Amino acid sequence: MSRFKLVCFDVDGTLIDSVSNDFEYSWELLHNHFTIDKDVCEAVKKKFFSGSISYQEWADHDIGMWVSHGVTRQDFVSVCKKLKLMAGARETLMELKKAGCKLAIVSGSVDILLGTLMPDYKEIFDDVFFSHLTFDANDKLTGAEVTQFDMIKKADALRLIAKREGISLSECVHIGDHHNDVEIAKIAGLGIAFNCKDDELREVADVEIKKKDLREVLELIL
Ligand SMILES: [Mg+2]
Repeated sequence: MSRFKLVCFDVDGTLIDSVSNDFEYSWELLHNHFTIDKDVCEAVKKKFFSGSISYQEWADHDIGMWVSHGVTRQDFVSVCKKLKLMAGARETLMELKKAGCKLAIVSGSVDILLGTLMPDYKEIFDDVFFSHLTFDANDKLTGAEVTQFDMIKKADALRLIAKREGISLSECVHIGDHHNDVEIAKIAGLGIAFNCKDDELREVADVEIKKKDLREVLELIL
């Protein structure tokens, strides 16, 4: 039995990689794929980071752009041709499960990407925090139930799961790659910066793994 009882994963850049190895955030990849005006999205993103709009307003804006472009379920599925599961992802999840660890996802990504790449993810993970896209009967995107737990609020999701399961935060692991993982990495007993693109995350994490293979986390956790 591991001294860690819960292992929490980020998705973009952690569980999911791009075929071209340059993946950071799914939203940006989706904007590019749907040929959404970059300048408009950049301006709205800046508004969020300067605190003048909420995460919900930011997400609603960007999803609204996809809806007005007439994006369909199939468009999201075809984006997945540019993506793949991180090397060693499935083996790592199975080993952790076998050792009795609870598994969680806390991500700002949209559910359909991991859902396409790992169709059985709901059976593998005990807890999933995502933004969920909604489609109409013709598979046209209609909107999303936006996660309340991205950015610094990822840490709130971990607190919530730990409290409910009666696990202390020191018994929790977090694995992530980017700036939205900083706060959650700080509170986890073991914060792992994996495939890391952010200096602040590197600094607050207990350990950094540079090799892009999730199996590298196993000896730290088990
Ligand atoms: Mg990420």
